[in-house]
Amino acid sequence: MPATSHSAVTDHLVIIGNGMAGHRLVEALAGKPGRPAHITVIGDEPEPAYNRILLSPLLAGEMAREALTLHDGDWYAEQGIELILGERVTDIDRAARRLTTDAGRTLDYDRLVLATGSRPARPPVPGLELPGVEVFRDLRDAEALMRFGQHRADEGGNAVVIGGGLLGLEAAEGLRKRGQGGLRVSLLQRDDRLMNRQLDLIAARLLENALRGRGLDIHTDARLERLEPDDQGRVCAALLTDGTRLPADCVVVAIGILPKVSLARAAGLEVNRGIVVDAWLTTSDPAIHALGECCEFEGQTFGLVEPIWRQVEVLAAHLAGETVAGYVDTPCATKLKVSGVALYAFGPTEPEAGHEVLAYHDPQQGDYRRLLLKDGRLEGAVLYGDTAAGPWYFEQALAGRDLSAGRAALLLGAADARVRLDAAADTATDSPHSPAKEAA
Ligand SMILES: Cc1cc2nc3c(=O)[nH]c(=O)nc-3n(C[C@H](O)[C@H](O)[C@H](O)COP(=O)(O)OP(=O)(O)OC[C@H]3O[C@@H](n4cnc5c(N)ncnc54)[C@H](O)[C@@H]3O)c2cc1C
Repeated sequence: MPATSHSAVTDHLVIIGNGMAGHRLVEALAGKPGRPAHITVIGDEPEPAYNRILLSPLLAGEMAREALTLHDGDWYAEQGIELILGERVTDIDRAARRLTTDAGRTLDYDRLVLATGSRPARPPVPGLELPGVEVFRDLRDAEALMRFGQHRADEGGNAVVIGGGLLGLEAAEGLRKRGQGGLRVSLLQRDDRLMNRQLDLIAARLLENALRGRGLDIHTDARLERLEPDDQGRVCAALLTDGTRLPADCVVVAIGILPKVSLARAAGLEVNRGIVVDAWLTTSDPAIHALGECCEFEGQTFGLVEPIWRQVEVLAAHLAGETVAGYVDTPCATKLKVSGVALYAFGPTEPEAGHEVLAYHDPQQGDYRRLLLKDGRLEGAVLYGDTAAGPWYFEQALAGRDLSAGRAALLLGAADARVRLDAAADTATDSPHSPAKEAA
């Protein structure tokens, strides 16, 4: 299609963003008989969608680039879906239902989906614009960090990662592994602990000690004052407010994400932190939907794929004309993709009013489990070391199951707890006053 052409079809769905959400939506729609007749996907990255989650193992050298590919361009063609890559949508004219890309292409749509994801947040400190300051969001970021790590494996050097959440930890550990001991990696965390949104202090300290043992230089309660340039204007150091000066040939900023909303805002859609959507992922314009990290539902924005997959199911069904229940936000569990470190967490990090705490800690083995229960129901868990029971705990929490009968065995893991709960259920069924007996 010539860059300036514009199509005029009657049932045309256009999806902006060929990332995790946009791609998954196409996959879901492809199998539906009621799908829109004409689907176009426009993504500004040069390659078809890849598994962004796997950028961390790619950086760490644990996975090959090819393993990240989700589907190649041929797959889209086979599904009768037009895929436009390397072009950014710069304008949406809602009155004309027409959008424009940075290549000058215009496209008419009947339905539009915004799946524009998010961008890395940046702390307001001087020096962030210096060459050598990187982020960790897409394939090009990962490749730049891989090149840096490989180069420094031979020459030696220093990297500083800002942010001790999931992404910062995965970036730091990936760089450390790439650097093969030739690169010193420091990690700055503002809070008093790593992963402060997911972990309590004990689990965070276990994690910190394990990563320190591998050679990561971790600074908690760290306040960055500025980044300093060398004579050539490249970043060369990170200065903290307590006077600490960390040499840095590369700085990776991983302090969080901000939904990409500028396109939606300029088009006059309702935007708070993210693009506001209802339970069917519809924006303030009934012809436009949004999903994934760019959207906001009931005040929540998103940063993990699990809720996004559920949004995809709802929106795909809706776009295919099926009757579908609206999206409901439910809690998510967290895992860290650092090989050799097992942790699993969900729910509040600290006990709240009415919470009972059950905990098991074996400092020698580096094993820790802490459960938060309210009225016998599980509301939060932090597991470090042996995390096998994590998904079972999460299931029980989502189901709101009363676990009082299995309480004594709860910390022993799923199998033991299940035996106790089943035995308690059997006893209740055998009782002459049990509902089962009365019904019989
Ligand atoms: C390194 C890394 C590791 C992660 N690990 C995990 C994990 O272990 N578990 C987990 O659940 N989540 C993880 N995540 C988060 C997960 O990748 C995101 O939640 C997910 O990618 C969000 O999907 P999305 O489609 O909303 O955004 P994205 O995947 O970012 O896709 C948005 C796409 O839209 C494109 N775009 C934006 N604006 C325009 C425009 N105007 N025109 C055209 N195209 C545009 C973007 O370039 C991008 O390709 C990780 C993220 C990163 C970066």
